[in-house]
This record gives sequence, C-alpha cells and structure tokens, in this order.
Amino acid sequence: MANIPLHLSLGSVTVDSAAAPDRGFPGCGAVMEPRDSYDALLSRLGKEHVPFTVLWELTHICNLNCIMCYNVPLKQPELSTAECYDILEQLAEAGTLRLILTGGEILSRHDFFDIAGRARELGFALDLKTNATMITPAIADRLAELAPVQVEASLLGATPETSDAVSGARHSLERVLRGVKLLLERGVRVKLNTLLLDLNVHERAQMLDLAQSLGVYYEQVLKVSPADDGSDVAGLHQLSLMQMADALVADQTPFTPRQPAPAARTCGVGLSSCLISPYGVVYPCIELRIPAGSLRRQPFREIWTTAPILQRLRANHTWANLPECWTCPINTYCEGRCAGIAWKEHGDLYGGHLTACQQAQARYAQVNPGQPIPQTPLQAKMGVAPAFGIVSIEESASRFNL
Ligand code: SF4
Ligand code: SF4
Repeated sequence: MANIPLHLSLGSVTVDSAAAPDRGFPGCGAVMEPRDSYDALLSRLGKEHVPFTVLWELTHICNLNCIMCYNVPLKQPELSTAECYDILEQLAEAGTLRLILTGGEILSRHDFFDIAGRARELGFALDLKTNATMITPAIADRLAELAPVQVEASLLGATPETSDAVSGARHSLERVLRGVKLLLERGVRVKLNTLLLDLNVHERAQMLDLAQSLGVYYEQVLKVSPADDGSDVAGLHQLSLMQMADALVADQTPFTPRQPAPAARTCGVGLSSCLISPYGVVYPCIELRIPAGSLRRQPFREIWTTAPILQRLRANHTWANLPECWTCPINTYCEGRCAGIAWKEHGDLYGGHLTACQQAQARYAQVNPGQPIPQTPLQAKMGVAPAFGIVSIEESASRFNL
C-alpha cells in the first residue's frame, strides 16, 4: 500500500495515497494558482462560463438520518427517469463533462443505474457520492461497471458507537466498511470524507489510521453547513475554537497566510459549476440555495446564461465587494468563507459567516501559538463576545497595528 501523506487544504485534513490533487467540488476552490493542466483548464472554463461540473442531487431520500444532513425534502415529486434523461442530454450539449451524482442516497433511487448508465453513454465523467451502506456484491459489480472517476462515502467515526450516533442508524460503520471494501476489491477508487463534529473528533486519529489501513483517499473537514432551509442543527455539534485549533495543530501541516487581492474571488461560485436539486431546480452551488431557475420550466442553457443570480455572482463576487471580509484583520487566515453559508446565516450574500471566522481564528492560533486572537468584524457586528483568548476588534486594531 502506498505511503499516505497527511496534508491540510482549505480548512480540511487530507490524506491521499498518491500525488494526484483532490478534486472536490471545483466551485469552492477558485483556481488562483493552477497546480496542473486540469486546474488551468478549470480556470479557463471558469472565465468562459462553461458549466463543466454539475453536482446533481438525484434524490433526497436516504436510509440514514445523519445529524449533519442539510437536505430538506420537499413535498413534490422528484424528477422522473425521463426528465433525468432529458436533462442529461441538455448538460452534454451545454458542455458539462464532470457529473457528480449525490443524494440523499443515490442507491435509494430505483432507476439510479439507468440514469448513471445513460450518463456514461453520453460520455460524462462520473463522481458518485453514496453513504456506502447499501452496497452489496451485486451493487458493487454494477458500480464498478460504470467506471466512475471515484466513489465518495462518509466515515462518521472509528467505532460503531460513534458512527451510529452521527448517522442515526445501527451498524453503520460495519456497513460502510463492507461497501468500501467491496468497491476496492473491484478496483474502484474510493474517497472517504469525515465532517469533524464534537461527537467524533475524539476519534480523529483513529479515523486517519482506519483510512490509511484501507488505502483510500481521505479528507477530514471542519465546515459545518446549515440545512437548506437555514436551520442549523449541525451547528450544535460544531467543534469549539479550541477543538478546531487542536485538530489543525495535530495535523502539523504548515499554513501560510495569504493576502487576498481586491479582484480575487473567495470561491468559484457561478463560474463553471452548479447544482441541480431532485426537483429540477438549478442553484449556483450546494450551499447557495437561491434558485437560478427550474428545469421543469426552462432549458438548462437558458438558465445558465441568463439567470440573474448567476450573472451577479460572476460579476461581483470578489474580495473588494465583501465589506466585512475585506477589512477583516485575519482575512489572510480565512479559507472557508462561503457565500452560501453567509446567505443562510445572515441573508447577506456578500457577508462573512461565523463558522469561517472561527476556522480562521483556529488557523491564527495554529500559526501564532499563545498570541491573543483578533475578533472579526462579523463577530463584532453580531455581538459575539470575545472569549477563549480572542481580543476585541478595537483592541486587535491597536495591538496588531491594523
Ligand atoms: S458559495 Fe460556498 S459552497 Fe458555493 S462554491 Fe462558494 S464556497 Fe463552495
Ligand atoms: S470576517 Fe470571517 S469570513 Fe470574513 S474574512 Fe474574516 S474570518 Fe473570514
């Protein structure tokens, strides 16, 4: 098995078994400094507004009940098989190449293999996100036949008790590991993801060991998202600032603060990727649930080229247009600022959000151990009292000569 190096990227801990960079949802990582020809391609497609990557929630039905789930199923029919086929044709025609199929649980759709098979016939590169608990040998055979770029699943804990507490289902760890092993035996590339929560952070190192023993790509992330309707149950389980800082320090990956440029983007939202919901609604991305249009009423190409929200994001979403973040004393440490979470948290597309502030402060603590941590403008505005070694925005201004 390859030696698995540990490194941190964009507020997450990443373990991978090869030099290949992680290929997450590209919208989140605005490609400022292309690492390779794929990044250079993404950067060009972003400038030309080609919808290269589409993340498609095929269903909101799921057999688990995870504590951090952000899906809010609506009381309306999900897209039919025929509607999905039609959308696939439209995406192929619009220039989409990378299709990330997710849920809910994709395998709970009776026609999943029909849709995924049609997607492969049309030449899409498939990423599949599943909780892996429904994978039997027969299903693993069919998944392998699709030849996906990778299958992603969640590792919710290193022990059965923790995994079950996070997933809300019994025997979840055993079922996930069985599914993962069935895929690996068939040569499918698997990536495991863990959202670190107060419920599982004590098993952080054990989960890394488990991923290493499996030989899979592995990432631990800190970003907790409010649900699609803005409710924030998962936020109750977010790591404290000190827990985040401890996780970053334990990871030991160096972090270099970076000065944002006024014209740089915090992410690539709206440039070359979007999200389709199970009901056919197009959104700018997985977090930003401002509808761009419905595929039940408009063709994809028309939504992609004319939707006001997409046009606005393309034109305006630069650091200089983010008043709180641009003047933030620790914006050089901020990796996780997300327009979608800002919008869900405060209704402000151009604002910061408290989870990103906390993450940036954890980074600050990692790089400047023992130093007082500056409060952010957003925290000051929201009345979040300085605590745990955080000094007020006024005091930070004089202390740090800001
Ligand atoms: S708004 Fe958030 S989820 Fe959407 S692309 Fe940007 S960082 Fe990613
Ligand atoms: S205000 Fe918060 S979200 Fe904005 S740059 Fe500062 S730390 Fe990041």
